Amino acid sequence: MTLEIKDVDAYYGSVQVLEGVDFSAAQGELLGIIGPNGSGKTTLLRAIARILKPRTGAILLDGKQVMQMKDKEFSRQFAAVPQDTTIHFDFSALDVVLMGRNPHLGRLELESEKDIDIARRCMELTNCWHLAERPVTELSGGERQLVIIARALTQEPKVLLLDEPTSHLDINYQIEIMELLKHLTVHEGLIIIAVIHDLNLAAQYCDRLALLRSGKIVSIGSEYEVLTAENIKNAFGADVIVKRHAVTNQCYVSPIPSSVKQQTEAAGKNSDITIHLICGGGAGASLMYLLSENGYNVTAGVVNMLDTDCEVAQLLNIPVVTEAPFSPITEDAFNAHVKQIEKADVVVLCNIPVGFGNLKNIEAAEVALEQKGKKLMIVETDPIEKRDFTGGDATKRVISLKDKGAVVVTKPEKVVGVVSTA
Ligand code: ADP
Repeated sequence: MTLEIKDVDAYYGSVQVLEGVDFSAAQGELLGIIGPNGSGKTTLLRAIARILKPRTGAILLDGKQVMQMKDKEFSRQFAAVPQDTTIHFDFSALDVVLMGRNPHLGRLELESEKDIDIARRCMELTNCWHLAERPVTELSGGERQLVIIARALTQEPKVLLLDEPTSHLDINYQIEIMELLKHLTVHEGLIIIAVIHDLNLAAQYCDRLALLRSGKIVSIGSEYEVLTAENIKNAFGADVIVKRHAVTNQCYVSPIPSSVKQQTEAAGKNSDITIHLICGGGAGASLMYLLSENGYNVTAGVVNMLDTDCEVAQLLNIPVVTEAPFSPITEDAFNAHVKQIEKADVVVLCNIPVGFGNLKNIEAAEVALEQKGKKLMIVETDPIEKRDFTGGDATKRVISLKDKGAVVVTKPEKVVGVVSTA
């Protein structure tokens, strides 16, 4: 079974809202539609749900024109869960779910035992059977959403369309609903197309993502293909860092806070100055971004592969001396690090935790301080005593660095101010 959206254009009056939208979804696929407000996500669902007739192009289910299906046939193939699921009448949850059987009933035909069994099965599947007798007006947003999804499922559709099914719900319901959608694709073979606001939730659960901007699909594919910092900047105008989650290996998107961006905009360009960051464990990530955006040449070391700092450096094309994952710094890495430090104008010892494995990074800071004409800065967001896992050795050596003239700042972003006035 395949749903094909072929070169669809759609208009509200004379205003074009979808342009050349073209993709297909296969049986058992959960496709997430993402994009900024007003990009046409809801309109796309409306077009598939026949609420808005495309002006050109075609929508086909298994090769059959959706627009040409009889209403009942269409409702047996497609079910939709709208954005607003408020119901103003105090029907019981079961009554609401049973309404989903209408496409299967003849005119004036009442629901049979079979219909009630189907409704019950769908309510059990969506974990809301215990709410069967409750008036829907009394349900919480999350409970109501499960009931409305159950209603859609009692239609026994092949394609389920959902418009922001998790917005306004707490994290437990968000997870419950996304897990349910996944289950419905994997075990019930549904095609699900869902507009999802939260990029990270979409990345975690969807098989593929389609990114819309101004009514066009600008990217479609796996989360890794679609959720790039460049795509998100182009579509949303937002600066983000995209990383892989250490546990799930899935993409996650973090916005870059405006405090970091403002610093960036205020400063000039400094391409002839090289700043080296001694970092690791994510302590250097914000400075890598900030300094690169300010036009400085940035280098970094020694960080372990898979470490946050390593990933951010690679993302920003910052030369970085690396060590194997979770391994102590070897002599080779230390020597490469010292070579890199020789080329820098300023060296910054970031707010790293120090153990025996990376004590050589403190030694590298000592080497830097010895080098003529080089400035050493220390970022101390937390006192070194709290980050010292060497039994006091690291603390002693950092205090000595300060005594010998290293400049201390309390926040990473302050490095930019100090460097630009030097
Ligand atoms: P999204 O779901 O991505 O936020 P929509 O599909 O709701 O975007 O809207 C796409 C564009 O169509 C927007 O510019 C919106 O203002 C416009 N639009 C949405 N619904 C209507 C309507 N019923 N009549 C006229 N324009 C509409």
